[in-house]
Amino acid sequence: MSSKRLRSIPRTLAFRLTIWYAGIFLFSAAVAFGFFYYLITTTLRGRTDQDLLAEVRSFSSVMVLQGVEAVKRQALLDSQAAGEKKIFIQLLYPDGRLFSSSNMSYFRNIPVSSAAIVRMLEQDEPLFATVSSPDHSHEIRVVYALLGPGLIIHLGLSMDDLTHFIEAFQRIFVVTMAALFALAVVIGWFMARRALAGVGNVTRTARRIADGRWAERVPLGKGGDEIDQLAITFNRMLDRIQELVKGIKEMTDNIAHDLKSPITRIRGQAEIALTGGGSATDLENMAATAVEECDRLLEMINTMLFISRTDAGVTQPVLKEIDIAAVARGACGLFQSLAEEKKIALTWDVPEHAEMRGDIRLVQRMLANLLDNAIKYTPEGGWVKVSLRLNPDRSLSVTVQDSGVGISEKDLPHIFERFYRSDPSRSQAGAGLGLSFARAVARAHGGDITVESSPAGSAFTVNIPAAPA
Ligand code: ADP
Repeated sequence: MSSKRLRSIPRTLAFRLTIWYAGIFLFSAAVAFGFFYYLITTTLRGRTDQDLLAEVRSFSSVMVLQGVEAVKRQALLDSQAAGEKKIFIQLLYPDGRLFSSSNMSYFRNIPVSSAAIVRMLEQDEPLFATVSSPDHSHEIRVVYALLGPGLIIHLGLSMDDLTHFIEAFQRIFVVTMAALFALAVVIGWFMARRALAGVGNVTRTARRIADGRWAERVPLGKGGDEIDQLAITFNRMLDRIQELVKGIKEMTDNIAHDLKSPITRIRGQAEIALTGGGSATDLENMAATAVEECDRLLEMINTMLFISRTDAGVTQPVLKEIDIAAVARGACGLFQSLAEEKKIALTWDVPEHAEMRGDIRLVQRMLANLLDNAIKYTPEGGWVKVSLRLNPDRSLSVTVQDSGVGISEKDLPHIFERFYRSDPSRSQAGAGLGLSFARAVARAHGGDITVESSPAGSAFTVNIPAAPA
C-alpha cells in the first residue's frame, strides 16, 4: 500500500467506524469485567466475614461452657491449626490491653484499635474492619467481638486469597482486553468494509463517469438495503442527467439548424445591399425583410428561453385570478377570420365564467398555439371545436379538437419535444416550438397537456387547476 493511501486511512469512514466499534466493544467488555470483579470480591469478602463470625461464635460457646482458660488454649490451637500466617487471635481487656495472644510475629504491625473496641461495645455487636500494613502485600480482615464480661476477642484473617484472585484477575483482564481489542478491530474493520463496499461502488462509478464514460451505472446488490437505495437513486439521477444532456445537445443542434437559414437570408440581403444592386425601394424592402427575420429570430430565442427556464423551474408565472372562459372566447374570436379564410368551421362551447389562477398572457399564448395548429393542420372544409368544462375534482379542461390530418403513431410521443416537427408538417410555417411552449405553460400552472389523435383529426386537452372556491 502506498504511503499516501496509508496516511488517508485515518480519515476514512471505515477506520472511524472500526474505532467506534472497537471502543464500544471494549467498553462493554470492561463493564462486564468490572461487574464480575465486583461480584467476586464482595462474595470473597462476605465469605471472610462469615468465617470470622463462625470463629467468634465458636469462641463464645467455649467461653460460656468452659471458661476463659479454655478460650486461651483454643486460641493457640486454632491459630496453629490454621497457620500463624493465616490467622491471629488476641484476647483483650475492654481498654485494649492484651490479655492473651497467638503468635503475632507475622502480624506484629497490626495494631489494636481502641476506637474500634469502643464502637463495637456501643453497637453491641461484632465490628469488622479491613487493615493493611506495609509488611504484607495483602489486606487483613479483622473483627472485634465481646466474648464475655470484660473479655474481647480480636481476630484477624489474612485476605491473601482475595489478593491472589485480584492479581490473577488483573493479569487475565489485561491479556483478555488486548485480545478483545485486536478481535474487535479485525471484526470492526471487516464489517465496516463490507457495509461500505456499496459506497465504494458508487465512488468508482462516479469516477468512471467523470472520465467520460457516461453509460456507466452502479451495480445493484440483491439486498435492497440503504446502499442499494443510494445506488438506485444515483443511477436514476444519472439517467436524468443523461436525458438533460441529450436534450441540451438536441436543442443546440436544432438551434444551429433553425437559426442558420434566417441568418443566411439576412446576410444575403445585406450583401446585395452592400454591392449596391437595386433601387431605393428594393433596399427598403430588403431592410424590412431583415427586420422581420430578426423579429422572428428574437421571438424564437425568447420562446426557447422561456421553455428552458420554465422546465428548469427558474421562471415561475405571476399568478392572478383570471377568467379562462373569457380568454378562450377571445382566442376563438381572434382566429375566426383565419378559419373563415380556410373555410374551416370554428365553434366553441365555453361557459360564462371559469376562474383560475394564472398568467393571462401565457394562457392566451398557450391557447393561441393550439388553435393555430388546429387550423394549420386542418384542410379546407374541416372544423375546429373549442370546449371548456369544470371537472368534479375542480380542474378545468380546455379541449381544442379538429378534423385535421391527425398525427401518426410514430410522431405522437415526440410532438411536445422542442423543435420536433413531423415530416408532413415541414411544408407549413413553424419552428416546432408551439407545443413545447404550450406544455411548459400548462405545467408552470400546475397542469399538463394530453393529446389524442386519429387519421380523422386530433384533440389537445389542457388540464389545469381551477381557482380555489
Ligand atoms: P409547429 O406547428 O411549429 O411545427 P408545434 O410544436 O406546434 O410546432 O407542433 C409540433 C408538431 O406537432 C407539428 O409539426 C405537427 O406535426 C404536430 N401537430 C401539432 N398540432 C397538430 C394538429 N392539430 N394536428 C396535426 N398535427 C399537429
